[in-house]
Amino acid sequence: MLGAMMNRPLLISSLLEFAVINHPGTEIVSRRVEGDIHRYRWSDAALRCARVANAITRLGVKPGDRIGTLAWNTYRHLELYFGVSGMGGVLHTINPRLFPEQIAWIVNHAQDRIIFVDLTFLPLLDAVRAQLKTLEKVVVLCDADAMPAGRDDLVCYETLIAAESSTFAWPEFDERSASSLCYTSGTTGHPKGVLYSHRSTVLHAWASLHSGGLNIGRESVVLPVVPMFHVNAWGTPYAAAMSGAKLVFPGPGMDGKSLHELIDAEQATLLLGVPTVWLGLLTYLDSINAKMDSVKHAVVGGSAAPLSMIRAFDEKHDVFLIHAWGMTETSPLGTVNAPTEEVLALPKEERYLRQAKQGRPIFGVDLKIIDDEGQELPRDGRAFGRLMIRGPWVASGYYLQKDSPLTDGWFDTGDVATLDAGNTMQIVDRRKDVIKSGGEWISSIDLENIAVGHPAVKEACVIGVPHPKWDERPLLLVILKDGASISKEELLGFVGKSIARFWLPDDVIFVMELPHTATGKLFKLPLREQYANHLLKQVS
Ligand code: AMP
Repeated sequence: MLGAMMNRPLLISSLLEFAVINHPGTEIVSRRVEGDIHRYRWSDAALRCARVANAITRLGVKPGDRIGTLAWNTYRHLELYFGVSGMGGVLHTINPRLFPEQIAWIVNHAQDRIIFVDLTFLPLLDAVRAQLKTLEKVVVLCDADAMPAGRDDLVCYETLIAAESSTFAWPEFDERSASSLCYTSGTTGHPKGVLYSHRSTVLHAWASLHSGGLNIGRESVVLPVVPMFHVNAWGTPYAAAMSGAKLVFPGPGMDGKSLHELIDAEQATLLLGVPTVWLGLLTYLDSINAKMDSVKHAVVGGSAAPLSMIRAFDEKHDVFLIHAWGMTETSPLGTVNAPTEEVLALPKEERYLRQAKQGRPIFGVDLKIIDDEGQELPRDGRAFGRLMIRGPWVASGYYLQKDSPLTDGWFDTGDVATLDAGNTMQIVDRRKDVIKSGGEWISSIDLENIAVGHPAVKEACVIGVPHPKWDERPLLLVILKDGASISKEELLGFVGKSIARFWLPDDVIFVMELPHTATGKLFKLPLREQYANHLLKQVS
């Protein structure tokens, strides 16, 4: 027997309509590409979202058509989030940090008809434009007087939407319809398209609000440094519309100084970003001896946060660093290590160790770990295996790809993890990065996080390289902080204090830079190739 309840579709436009009625006066503040600070309210945003929907409808965009963006986190990008998805279009947020050939490939694969681009990224788009087979129009996200001269191939965003009506009848359609598209920055092969739906997006936003999630409410002032071109800024634009939180967008100002200015001026309470961004912010705040008084929580994800970072946030700024884990394929929130009374009551060092874990799944997400034969492993905090996930905001397939990535309905994350009796998850490593030495496993992430705890170390990367006796041994590559110096022996002595003997890297190499992927993660593949013979040479 079916229940007798309304079957109202979960649509992104309903988030916007809700925001306008329930918190029309809540501010959205942006640092613009032009450099100034822009502020308006949800009631203003909604009028411009309607103009966007009218404009693209007039340009012939039909429900399901893909519309690209190459843009920073600003109010204009927000208008496209709601305007494009709201009318039934699919917003394809393009990561400008991808290689130009990858950008050309994904725009062609997605068959983008229009691309909305910030001035910053116009040269990038111009460089590949001749290769873009389906692109009909390029709209530049700037004021009319900032438009590049002599470019009648470009349309100005402000001029385009100014000509349109500020009312739009948001259509109702199947909540499973596609709403946005984000490509993974695969380190091998072509990027893969993850196609979110209205339903998955609204449910993910809902789940993210509660206190076991990101704890976002009307009183929150949310500053997503995580880009809107990478997994929808972790869903914060939708979560803000749902909760009435004030949004503060950093635009292109993701350096420590610009972030600090904005945090202080807008009294941000919740920050979200990857570890490298927080490192930049902490270093800047140290250099001017400043604190972040308004901030209560900062969320970190995308890569593991080292203990030294968790400690610095707490001891210097009284900010609880909330570890979260997810992927492009999981919308992205999978687990959150939200503060609980129990954890807050722990002695500091014990608490930091708990915070270093990636946390518990939020309701809707199921996790399990399995061995190579597919057998489920115990939740004992020790057994580690392939991390599998399922849930209503987890990808069931990739855009235009026939083969299913699922095994018995579960998505294999590619991560190796432990789960404890309370279902708290801790990432051990990416499966391809874990080091197999003499039949034992060594976590490259753990070693990196210990090494960056040394005050002389700016960034650390550990890779497994071939060894004649042990198969693989860890090699530590390190970038030192400006002006710092330390010997290999000193650094190994420091790292050795916190690990089992056989984990100790066989050598340390000081480098000037380390390769990263388009989403800021260490890119270890070329390093493994470059240093493949390093230990073989030494041992022979
Ligand atoms: P992406 O799809 O680019 O967002 O990358 C997802 C991957 O980033 C995950 O499969 C993890 O390997 C890694 N990742 C994300 N969050 C964390 C975290 N908090 N700690 C460690 N690794 C993480």
